[in-house]
Amino acid sequence: MFHLLFPFEYVDSVFSIDYDKLFQKGYKGVIFDIDMTLVPHGADSTKEIDELFKTIHKAGLQTLLLTNNSEERVKRFIKNIDTLYLCDANKPDKDGYVKAIEMMGIRKNEAVFIGDQIFIDIYGANKSGIASILVKYVTAEIETNIGIRRNLEKVILALYRFTKIYQHRLGDIIKTG
Ligand SMILES: [Mg+2]
Repeated sequence: MFHLLFPFEYVDSVFSIDYDKLFQKGYKGVIFDIDMTLVPHGADSTKEIDELFKTIHKAGLQTLLLTNNSEERVKRFIKNIDTLYLCDANKPDKDGYVKAIEMMGIRKNEAVFIGDQIFIDIYGANKSGIASILVKYVTAEIETNIGIRRNLEKVILALYRFTKIYQHRLGDIIKTG
C-alpha cells in the first residue's frame, strides 16, 4: 500500500527536471502544484519561474496548475504565465487530476504531476494513474513547516530510499550539468 505514496522521481526542485527529455519520452502535459512547489506559500511568481514555464512550453509540453488554493491566488500567480489552471481542486481527490488531463486533452499516461506533498500531491496523482514527481519544498525563511505531516513524509521518504524498484521510474529525466 505504500507504493501509492512513493513518487516516480524525487528531485531537488522544478529546475532539476529535463523537460525536453519528458517530451521525448512521450509526455505531453505537466501538472504543477503551486505553493511550496514553485514558490513559497502564497508568494507571487518569480522571473525564474516565469522563464521556466516558457522553457517548458518551448519543449512542446502543455502546463496546468492544480491547486487547492483559491482563484484569487492563482490569478495573482499567473500574471506573466500563460497556463491552464484548476483551483479549489480538493487534492488528493481524483476528480481534479482527471479534470486536469481532460482540460489538456491528453491521456493520463501522457501527464506528469509535480508537487511537494506526499500525502496530498503524490498520493492523489498516483491513485489517479498519473506519474508523480516529488520536489523538496520551497520555503521562505519566515515560514515554519507543516509539522506532523512533514514528519510523516520523512518516514515515507526513508522507506522510499530502501525500495529501489519505485525510484527513477521515469528514467533519466534529471538535468545534468
Ligand atoms: Mg504544495
